[in-house]
Amino acid sequence: MAFNPSNANAVVVVGGGFAGLTTALALSRCQPRPPIVLVEPNSRFIFLPLLYELLSAELQAWEVAPPYHSLLCERGIAHLEDRVESIDTKAKTLSTSSGLALSYSQLVLCTGSVPKDFDIPGVFEHALMFRNLDDVQILRQRIRELQLRPDPNQALVIVGAGPTGVELTCKLADLLDGAAELHLLELGERVLPNAKAFNQEQAEQALSKRGVHVHLCTQVLAISSNQVELESKQQPPLPISPITHRGLVWAAGTRPVSPAVGPDFVLNGARLPINSCLEVIGLSDVLGVGDVAYNDDYSWPSTAQVALQQGEAAAQNVMALRAGKVPQPFEFNDLGEMMSLGIGEASITGLGFTLAGPLAFHMRRAAYLTKLPGLSLGLRSACTWLLGH
Ligand SMILES: Cc1cc2nc3c(=O)[nH]c(=O)nc-3n(C[C@H](O)[C@H](O)[C@H](O)COP(=O)(O)OP(=O)(O)OC[C@H]3O[C@@H](n4cnc5c(N)ncnc54)[C@H](O)[C@@H]3O)c2cc1C
Repeated sequence: MAFNPSNANAVVVVGGGFAGLTTALALSRCQPRPPIVLVEPNSRFIFLPLLYELLSAELQAWEVAPPYHSLLCERGIAHLEDRVESIDTKAKTLSTSSGLALSYSQLVLCTGSVPKDFDIPGVFEHALMFRNLDDVQILRQRIRELQLRPDPNQALVIVGAGPTGVELTCKLADLLDGAAELHLLELGERVLPNAKAFNQEQAEQALSKRGVHVHLCTQVLAISSNQVELESKQQPPLPISPITHRGLVWAAGTRPVSPAVGPDFVLNGARLPINSCLEVIGLSDVLGVGDVAYNDDYSWPSTAQVALQQGEAAAQNVMALRAGKVPQPFEFNDLGEMMSLGIGEASITGLGFTLAGPLAFHMRRAAYLTKLPGLSLGLRSACTWLLGH
C-alpha cells in the first residue's frame, strides 16, 4: 500500500514482531481507521514459537514465516521495508536507514530484543543462533553433517536452559538420534528456572530420556570454533574440563534493542520505560510494547504472549490518544505455557490444566494449526491461545 512519509496524521509502528504486527492489525480494525505505517526491515514475519517445528520439518516455511505482504494486504497498513535509525520526539519524525524521514502523530515502538553475549569472548564469532530462517538453515546443515558421520564422541552444545534452549535441545536430540552427544549448559541450579513447575519437571524428564548431558551451575567463559571453556559455580566448585564441540548454539539470553531516541530523552540501555498504559515515560504520543519495554511495577515477562496482548492494548490506547481520551492500563492475562519437548511431544500448563506427552503435542499443534484469517491458519490459532480469546 502506498503512503505519504510526511503524513503527520499517521500512526507509525516500528518493528513487525509479535508486538508490532498485532498493534498494526488491531489498529486496522479500528473505526475510523487511522493511516498506519509499519516499519520492519524483514520481508517475512517469523512465528518464533514454531521455529523448532521448522527445524524438524514438522512445519513448512510458509506456515512459520509468512510474508508481510500476505498478512497486511487490504488492511490499510503500509509496510515500509526499512530500519528506523533515530527518532526526534520534538519534531515527531523518524529517520530510516534508507534516508527517509517519516512524520508521525502517534508512535508505537516494538523493536524487540536480540541475543546478548554477556561480554563472553567468541559468542558472536563462533556460536550459532536460533532466531531466523537463516539460523534454521545453518543448523539443519550442521545436523546433516553430523548425521553423515555419526560418532557418539562428537558433541553439539546448547548454552542456556531457558525455554528456547530446552525446546531446541529436545528437538535436536530427536533429529540427531544418537549421531552426536548433546550438552546443555546452564548457569542456574535447574533447567527452566522461571517455568511453571509441571513444565519444568516434564522438561527434566524429556532431557533425561533423550540422554542429554545437562550441566547445571556452569558458566561459559569463552567459546572458540571447536571448544567451550567452562567454570563450575557449584559450592564448593568442581574441576570442569572444556567441551570440544562440532557446533554450539547460543540460547543464553537477549537484550532489548531500540533506535536512538532524542533530543531530550535518556535511554536506560536500550529498554524503554513505560507506564501501566504502555506510554513511554517522559514522551508524549509514544508507546513501547513487547520485549523492548519495561515497567518497574509489573514484571511482565518477555514473551510472545505479553507482546500480543500488549499489542492489542496499545492499539486501543493509540485510538484513545487520537480521540483526546484517557488511555487505559494494560492488564496481563497469564494463560500459561505450551512447550514443545521433542518430535511428537509437548507439555502444557495453563487454562486450569496440565498435560504432557503426545496428546499435549497434538493439542499444541492443533492450537497452532486451526483457523486464522489475516495471518496463516496456524498463526491465528496460536494467537488465539496467547491472547485468550
Ligand atoms: C526461538 C524462540 C522461541 C520462542 N518461543 C516462545 C514461545 O513459545 N512462547 C512465548 O511466549 N515466547 C516465545 N519466544 C519469545 C518471543 O518470541 C518474544 O518475547 C517475542 O518475539 C517478543 O515480541 P516483540 O514484537 O517485542 O519483539 P520481536 O519478536 O523481537 O520483534 C521485533 C521486530 O522489530 C524489528 N526491528 C528491530 N529494530 C528495528 C528498527 N530499528 N527498525 C525497524 N524494525 C526493527 C525486528 O526486525 C523484529 O522483526 C521465543 C523466542 C525465540 C527466539
